[in-house]
Amino acid sequence: MKRAWALGCDMGGTNIRCAAVSLDGDVLMMRRGPSLAWRAARAVADNIAEQVNTLLADAKAGGLGAPRAIGVAVPGPLNVFSGTVMAAPHVAAWRSFPLRARLEAKIGRRVIVENDANAWACGEFWRGSARGRRDVVLLTLGTGVGGGLIVGGKLVHGRSGMAAELGHVTVEPDGMPCDCGSHGCLEAYASTSGLRGLVERRLGLARRAPLKSEMLDVEGNFSVRAMTTLARRHDRLALEIFALAGRYLGIAIASFLNVFNPELVVIGGGMAGALSYMRKTMMAEVRERAFTAVAREARIVRAALGPRGGVVGAAYVALNPPSKPPQSGR
Ligand SMILES: [Zn+2]
Repeated sequence: MKRAWALGCDMGGTNIRCAAVSLDGDVLMMRRGPSLAWRAARAVADNIAEQVNTLLADAKAGGLGAPRAIGVAVPGPLNVFSGTVMAAPHVAAWRSFPLRARLEAKIGRRVIVENDANAWACGEFWRGSARGRRDVVLLTLGTGVGGGLIVGGKLVHGRSGMAAELGHVTVEPDGMPCDCGSHGCLEAYASTSGLRGLVERRLGLARRAPLKSEMLDVEGNFSVRAMTTLARRHDRLALEIFALAGRYLGIAIASFLNVFNPELVVIGGGMAGALSYMRKTMMAEVRERAFTAVAREARIVRAALGPRGGVVGAAYVALNPPSKPPQSGR
């Protein structure tokens, strides 16, 4: 029997996941391939299109037929209405790149493009921790810090779809430099690179100085998971660093609570596994800075979907595309 479905594609720095997702948000089929993000601008887009086309062919062969809609989530600020990526942290070649036009030419169907953190937020809203909620702030603490905002049951896009860059609120006016060009952003403390920066400063090391092997993964890269393991073993430095990151996270969350009065704050990404080591200092800042009534109404929880959140969210975005913004008076 043919089943109605949507195609959700989620591109990360290393992998692309493409999935057939039912209209209820169940993953019916999923494929994974390389992002090849170091290639030229068009070649990166063509690789996405190729993997989408492969899933379309597999779905057809598997008896699923054609999808109702196609959604593609990519990193970096992008204009969801024009389909142009401004700049992507993992794809150096994408600068004001017309991604949607290129994908639609290669796939031969309408495509909705969305920021990856926004898509992930929609996944958690549809099928994860934020299911059934109306007002939610979602933060993904990974390589960077991504954000999504659901207000009144709708994803907030702003004028051009670049709203909810929650990782780039200032938490320390004279703070550490951030990849966005500013400094003192939440991302400079509560992401993988931010955490590494905190370790380096605490130990008085130069930027990118070699670290002890117990802080690294098997490939020799600084690892939040390794730091979490250390914290579990009561390692003083790891506990201190997570407490500090938690403090900055709490400062940011207190502002989000005061601005949006959400019922839920959802935290995902690699650092969410260390939430228990950040919670004490995070909550101390929330209590100190947010309005008591607002803080009492909001729960802070971990994301539920894991790596599937992106594809499920991209499918949701495809089925619920953003409505065109009103023309400005200018
Ligand atoms: Zn920033």
